[in-house]
Amino acid sequence: MKPAGFEYHAPRTLGEAVQLLHRFEDDARILAGGQSLVPMMNLRLARPEHIIDINRIGELEHISTADGMLRIGALTRHNAFMTPPTDDPLGRLLAEVGRHIGHLPIRVRGTFAGSIAHADPASEWCLVAATLDAEMHAESSAGQRLIPASEFFLSSLASDLKADEVLAEVRLPLLGEGARFGFEEVSRRAGDFALTMILAVLWLDGGRIDKVRIGIGGAANRAMRAPEAEALLSGQSASPELLRRAAEAATASIDPIKDIHASAAYRRDLVRALTRRALERALA
Ligand SMILES: Cc1cc2nc3c(=O)[nH]c(=O)nc-3n(C[C@H](O)[C@H](O)[C@H](O)COP(=O)(O)OP(=O)(O)OC[C@H]3O[C@@H](n4cnc5c(N)ncnc54)[C@H](O)[C@@H]3O)c2cc1C
Repeated sequence: MKPAGFEYHAPRTLGEAVQLLHRFEDDARILAGGQSLVPMMNLRLARPEHIIDINRIGELEHISTADGMLRIGALTRHNAFMTPPTDDPLGRLLAEVGRHIGHLPIRVRGTFAGSIAHADPASEWCLVAATLDAEMHAESSAGQRLIPASEFFLSSLASDLKADEVLAEVRLPLLGEGARFGFEEVSRRAGDFALTMILAVLWLDGGRIDKVRIGIGGAANRAMRAPEAEALLSGQSASPELLRRAAEAATASIDPIKDIHASAAYRRDLVRALTRRALERALA
């Protein structure tokens, strides 16, 4: 299939891209890696009249650390994370999780920020952003806005990003030495979107769990945290019974989706099993 006709724009600066978006708003879409937008256009699920290709904007191509955050420019491809982009444990986390995204051609073109803007609940990067409380740096003709992950992901393929905003950068907090993580994903085949995935990140103090974050992806209509499970674990010594109760709490916190790939009941079972396994892996 071929897409419907559109006008193509290739701005050289972020300012130009923002002005084009301001001019065309709902009739325009940003093109980054094209790994979600182009298939949607080919299937005529998206019919933008104007395509704003940001791939020539050099200032969006960066990844750096500053003020305790990893700053990921909008043109950073999935592949950039295959080797850890920082010595902080966050680097290893991104490298491990990123390997589950699609296949090599998708990872070479697709971008971290494109995944976040697309807000697919089964996206690995959306799970990372939700779990770690990422900040999304959006730019429009009205100025700049920092959106916390807790307010960004609204529903499946729906985010708080406005039609006239470019997601210029995503900021992830560094975890600090001693942070531990466990990631578990179930998909039908290697490289497929996750049916369900869990990311657990924790910090120990002596024998106790000092702080913990649990993120759930693919199971509900958006990537989300499991605050009840986190509260159960915080300040406690880990035991098989405690992990079982935390996994139950995570399961109870979701309203699972059902589709042609898996029932809601199966996704609930996956959340229960994968939460326990991700926590065990983080504690090992
Ligand atoms: C076969 C296949 C398998 C895949 N498997 C996985 C998988 O397992 N896990 C996974 O997470 N993803 C998977 N993907 C999706 C892939 O990761 C995409 O790259 C990603 O979803 C979108 O990033 P992109 O840069 O390609 O964005 P695009 O496709 O260019 O854009 C996607 C959407 O985001 C908007 N957008 C993009 N960048 C910006 C920006 N900077 N500011 C504002 N809006 C923006 C676009 O307008 C569009 O609406 C798969 C894709 C394919 C084709």
